[in-house]
Amino acid sequence: MATKASPSKKGSSTKKGGKLVSTVALFIGVLAVGLYWVGIDSIVNGINLALSGYSGVCDQYPIAKPEGFNDSEFDYFNDPKYLQRSVELLGGAVRIPTETHDDMGPLGEDSRWAVFDEFHKYLKESFPSIYSKFKVETVNTYNLLLTWEGSNKDLKPILYMSHQDVVTVPPDTWTQWTHPPFSGHFDGTFLHGRGSLDCKNNLIGILEALTYLIEELDFKPQRTVLLAFGFDEEISGPYGASQLAPFIEKRYGRDSLALILDEGDGIHELAGTFFAHVATSEKGFANIRLELHTPGGHSSVPPDHTGVGILSEVVTDLENKNLQKPVIDMESPMASHLQCAGKHGKSLSLIVKSILLHLDLKPIKLLLRWKMKELFSLVAYLMTTTQANDVIVGGAKANALPEYSYLYTNYRVANGDTLEALNERYLKIVTGVAKKHGVGLYAFGEQLIAPTKAGYFNVTNLQPQLSPAPVSPKNDVFGKLAGAVRLTFEEFQSYPSIIVTPSLMPANTDTKFYWQLSQNIYRFAAMSGMWETKIHAVDERVEMKEHINFIFFIQTLTRVMDTYTEI
Ligand SMILES: [Zn+2]
Repeated sequence: MATKASPSKKGSSTKKGGKLVSTVALFIGVLAVGLYWVGIDSIVNGINLALSGYSGVCDQYPIAKPEGFNDSEFDYFNDPKYLQRSVELLGGAVRIPTETHDDMGPLGEDSRWAVFDEFHKYLKESFPSIYSKFKVETVNTYNLLLTWEGSNKDLKPILYMSHQDVVTVPPDTWTQWTHPPFSGHFDGTFLHGRGSLDCKNNLIGILEALTYLIEELDFKPQRTVLLAFGFDEEISGPYGASQLAPFIEKRYGRDSLALILDEGDGIHELAGTFFAHVATSEKGFANIRLELHTPGGHSSVPPDHTGVGILSEVVTDLENKNLQKPVIDMESPMASHLQCAGKHGKSLSLIVKSILLHLDLKPIKLLLRWKMKELFSLVAYLMTTTQANDVIVGGAKANALPEYSYLYTNYRVANGDTLEALNERYLKIVTGVAKKHGVGLYAFGEQLIAPTKAGYFNVTNLQPQLSPAPVSPKNDVFGKLAGAVRLTFEEFQSYPSIIVTPSLMPANTDTKFYWQLSQNIYRFAAMSGMWETKIHAVDERVEMKEHINFIFFIQTLTRVMDTYTEI
């Protein structure tokens, strides 16, 4: 994944405890008023819902066993020989340093792209069965599109995505690695190196899973299987997925794929229950640049407010007046996620369960908008359009008035919020400061206030803004995926039970280019323990047992989708 937001942790436990008691007391009060407010019908409905076990809320799908599945297949994947082969395949891929740097020059000009030639050669040599059964194409030099033609053209293809590139290892961190970053070293449990978890493990795992189908099962798909591997996801995909997705769309058309699966979160234990987080959407994104031009001059005769001062006032106002409360949008995957936690979280108190199960009630919505950060700090940022003032630069000399200052602010837009609303809120703040200080304002190419002698603001985007991704439905295809997760973890790995829940990616994957191709886009890695490993950091590593779970899951899902003929 391109970037990763980390959950915030706040306050000491005693402080938290006191806060929690007062919050709970508050909640009971609000609940009492709320129940009165929503009326007796809702109370009766609530009781009925309670008696029916909240049917319809976070219902689970059955375990999906592929046709002809034999339990001895578990043994095949548990064999130490399989592990050894898998270590060699993934280790070899990690040893090829396919870094993409922020300052990469164009293809064909910047020699650093050439490492992808080596990576392609490695894949061809390592996966001969795949290269004999699949049609292999390159798109825009290094994108890989592999096609395993199915026999039934009425079935929509499925598409597995991954990216070949890895995030750069900053040279000054090399010595901090326990094992060198491109060693692919296996310590008996973990395989180490940049890309071992983001996400050569996905790319190699997909190829290993399909190799199993070819070599061990002589599998012949009815449904076409596509593999799409970009090569610059870590720098937002200007040459990779942005070129590959339209190529696929041209060939198959809009809404032509049954399923798209890309990298994402995995399985975690929360509130005494194992949840599989299948991201059905991604937050939107905006990087807004605010420039301020003001007249220069000697610092001995300054105005009351210099450009730096005026720009700082914008920062202050943005942080005091523009912070969003959580958006409780029932269509958002986060609402589904919280309801799943409410229904299945074993160690949650009844009161928390009732809050979560009744998210759609107005008093609960109000309570959560007001107290979300205190109650559920870990998820609050996922339900909020976040704002971070990340860069501020102004002036050039200690004795000269600043003539040019600028500010970069990063937004991650929540489901239920829109770019239009975000821009409107942002411009309201800037307009207020512009009027107060008598400076002009241009915004996104339009003049809103004419420039004056005192100067002018100019608002532009650093990158094109991106709306929150369309929410993929919890339908039969989601059900097949969930069933494959359950087979992998409940039967192959003997977990007690896995609750599969829709969830949200806080960052953007290459799927942002694929929205037109399918309604069913899921971002998920069938692995547990990912929060304990280190994506994008020193000592990135993958637990090989989890890598094999991923392989098992992909081969299961491929077979299960092959015999499902409704789409
Ligand atoms: Zn990634």
